[in-house]
Amino acid sequence: MRIGVLAIQGDVREHLLHVKKAGADAMEVRQLGDLDSVDGLIIPGGESTTIGMLMQEEGLIDVIRRRIRDEEFPVYGTCAGLILLATEVVGKSPARISVMDMVADRNAYGRQVASFEASLQIDGITGKPFPAVFIRAPQVKSIGPLVKPLAYYRGQIVMAEQGSLLASSFHPEMTDDIRVHQYFLDKVRRR
Ligand code: GLN
Repeated sequence: MRIGVLAIQGDVREHLLHVKKAGADAMEVRQLGDLDSVDGLIIPGGESTTIGMLMQEEGLIDVIRRRIRDEEFPVYGTCAGLILLATEVVGKSPARISVMDMVADRNAYGRQVASFEASLQIDGITGKPFPAVFIRAPQVKSIGPLVKPLAYYRGQIVMAEQGSLLASSFHPEMTDDIRVHQYFLDKVRRR
């Protein structure tokens, strides 16, 4: 099993390391052809406008969307990646894959609270609470019937899934904890 990490922006190296620690192969995805070699994809955080634009230029948006629809290609979007998966975005909306039935609010925590850490109880992840790092994080404002919330922070959804798709507002690659990556790998394995 090999997981691709979209290598446009963000913590690419950390995601690759977490995937390997969780027991799968990992490789960078930069171009269309790279998608043929992976069983699932992680989209790291960064700036969703920039990532969306560069994905569009490479033709990645349409092909990833088609793979998700045709084959249930598992994709995990963290932070900006969550915004790229959402079918709707509050405010200025970047080019998106637009497959997860939810409304994402970019920078929902405002400039004042640009980043923070929180311990989260995540549905499906056992043991101690997960140490979640939020950086100019989005929130999920509302979800459609196919989307299942997995974690909340102060009443707002910050992690959710829809079939083989997974999205989190926070960055699980920024701590040593690999349980969220394991959770995604289990999805890829099941598919
Ligand atoms: N708020 C950023 C955006 O709109 C995402 C921040 C992040 O990925 N850390 O793209």
